[in-house]
Amino acid sequence: MEQTLVIIKPDGVRRKLVGRIIQRFEDRQLTITAMRVDRMSRDLAKVHYAHLQEKPFFEEILEYMTSGPVIYLVLEADNAVALVRGMVGFTDGLKATPGTIRGDFAINKDENVVHASDCPEAARNEIQRFFGAEAPLEIAI
Ligand code: ADP
Repeated sequence: MEQTLVIIKPDGVRRKLVGRIIQRFEDRQLTITAMRVDRMSRDLAKVHYAHLQEKPFFEEILEYMTSGPVIYLVLEADNAVALVRGMVGFTDGLKATPGTIRGDFAINKDENVVHASDCPEAARNEIQRFFGAEAPLEIAI
């Protein structure tokens, strides 16, 4: 079993898409092993998006990600990382395939509704980052 981290970003929460997004993951047989509503601190946003710190839109990302509550989710399944990335779709909502979350709910790359870990190592780091000592044990189903 593999775990991945998903964040329903502030626009997803504001637009009341939480239920529909989570439904998609459950429909795909992913198990929710941890979930929390919270605000992302500016410091955590800086760490989470450190790979983009040289980009001109870095400040925009920090403001976006700290603009309201988010939902943190840990999802578990065989190949959960690849499964969820496929369901989330390309970064830019304009290019994301219809049927993916971004392809159905996002129209550009400024506010693209969800984050999902892009590889198993990132998933482990991100679960630690946002759940720390509360990081979920793998659940055997
Ligand atoms: P992904 O979220 O698909 O893994 P990245 O790690 O490249 O993609 O980007 C992280 C986030 O930064 C994106 O999901 C999006 O919210 C934001 N972002 C990426 N590119 C841009 C851009 N050109 N302008 C504004 N925001 C962007």
